[in-house]
Amino acid sequence: MNASSMNAGSMKAGDAVSWIRHAAELVAADADRLTRLDAAIGDGDHGLNLDRGFRAATEALSGEASPGDVPPGKVLIAAGRAIVSKTGGASGPLYGTALRRAGKALGDTADVDAAALGAALRAALEGVQDLGKAAEGDKTMIDALAPAVAAYEAALADGADLPGCVSVAAGAAAEGADATVPMQARKGRASYLGARSIGHMDPGASSTALILRALSDVVAADAASGEG
Ligand code: ADP
Ligand code: MG
Repeated sequence: MNASSMNAGSMKAGDAVSWIRHAAELVAADADRLTRLDAAIGDGDHGLNLDRGFRAATEALSGEASPGDVPPGKVLIAAGRAIVSKTGGASGPLYGTALRRAGKALGDTADVDAAALGAALRAALEGVQDLGKAAEGDKTMIDALAPAVAAYEAALADGADLPGCVSVAAGAAAEGADATVPMQARKGRASYLGARSIGHMDPGASSTALILRALSDVVAADAASGEG
């Protein structure tokens, strides 16, 4: 770890807005794939649901005159509210809660450092668990989010900077989503299929990996522009 990367990265309001926008782009680009995953073990609406939700979130944020002046926490709360109000299915309330809890954890801080973002991600995970009551291994978005938060916290404890922590978290989320394939669903619609849910990736775990990939992309781009 070099000295410049030790200092790299705090998340500002513009980054929070960029995160939601980029997540909306990735979700839109992958909506058909997410819907196909949900068609295999659910009701085939996950991509549609999330695309509608993230579009609504993006629109809610574009209403801000100058998003650069709004603290990141407020941005995430506004996005979460829009997602809850516009997203159908189980995933809308779960993602909405995740974003609102993360936003509340950030409070009014203008400059979010690696520790604060880690605490916000932990709060998001707790919010999803409070609402959905799923544990790791139940084949839900928790199987991507929980390892992502754990990996983030481990990287932080090892002295990684914010881009490093987020990158490790995004990687762990992707691995977590892949690991849902052999699981049998115990929560949500997919659980109605019993053993027939085995052999398919959980759509919510896959979308969680996308959303964290979006965060990692945005933070990495920001750090690169700050140092270059
Ligand atoms: P629905 O199942 O109502 O059609 P979606 O298709 O939008 O909603 O979302 C399905 C995803 O929601 C699942 O793949 C799973 O990851 C997630 N999910 C469902 N129930 C729960 C729960 N109780 N806790 C956490 N995540 C859940
Ligand atoms: Mg569905």
